[in-house]
Amino acid sequence: MKVLIKCKQYYKTILVTIAFILLTLSIASSIYDIYEVSSSNPKICVPIIMYHQVKDNSFGKDVISPTEFESDLQYLKDNKYNTITMTQLIDYVYNSTALPGNPIILTFDDGYLNTYKNVYPLLKKYDMKIVLSVVGKTVDDFSKVFDDNINYASTTWNQIKEMSASGHVEIQNHSYNLHKIKNGRYGVYQKNGEAFIDYETVLAEDFMKLQEIVEEVTEKAPNTFTYPYGKYNNNTEDIIKKLGFKATLSCTYGVNLIDNNPETLYGLRRMCRSHRYPMAELLKDGIETLKYRND
Ligand SMILES: [Zn+2]
Repeated sequence: MKVLIKCKQYYKTILVTIAFILLTLSIASSIYDIYEVSSSNPKICVPIIMYHQVKDNSFGKDVISPTEFESDLQYLKDNKYNTITMTQLIDYVYNSTALPGNPIILTFDDGYLNTYKNVYPLLKKYDMKIVLSVVGKTVDDFSKVFDDNINYASTTWNQIKEMSASGHVEIQNHSYNLHKIKNGRYGVYQKNGEAFIDYETVLAEDFMKLQEIVEEVTEKAPNTFTYPYGKYNNNTEDIIKKLGFKATLSCTYGVNLIDNNPETLYGLRRMCRSHRYPMAELLKDGIETLKYRND
């Protein structure tokens, strides 16, 4: 009798476990179904990851190791994610051009030499793409001198030309010379009391200078502006739209819901890939934020 009761409890535990697994699977599959890329359901979930440096020391918020970066690419490959460019995302919104399933964007800010040395070879190995936002003045400076210190050097225009031509790296605008906190301005943020017209002139001159150089070097004009330090206001967005940029990348945390409304391309959210914060966790935490969104 005792044995029979024990057996019954055992089967009950198994049944409860099976029911729980089935319920979890059905919830998980329904979450992903909502954001599947298809023409009948144009609203898609696009995670954008923010990276800065990939090198072998000084790990932290903005620095990860080459091994960590490779583990991200391996995870994306194993889980059938497809890295896309900003141009592909913009074409999806404006022209309904189809995107591969599970689209994701890997963005690199500032254009460090270690992107060329440590990231670019892995992109070729895994056949994946990144979006690299460069600071024009820094690239200008490092193109004039020979300094290949992987800890602080920038890429040169020759390296940018090579990466862009490979199809693995899309170059975007991170300002020509406004990536600094100087003279009362924080990045490209409007100064206290600055008239709109003056602000517009400063941004237009700076941004278009970099547009021209990148177009000359890569034969492609950037279509996205990446906010230095993630700092901007409504005026910044208005000016950027007037200048013809189709998208902006912010530092606001979360994933993006994109449909055929061009407005969904501005102030795009990004998740910072820090040291010891692998892609699996990053994506899980990012998708979790959708629970609290009502747009
Ligand atoms: Zn930056």
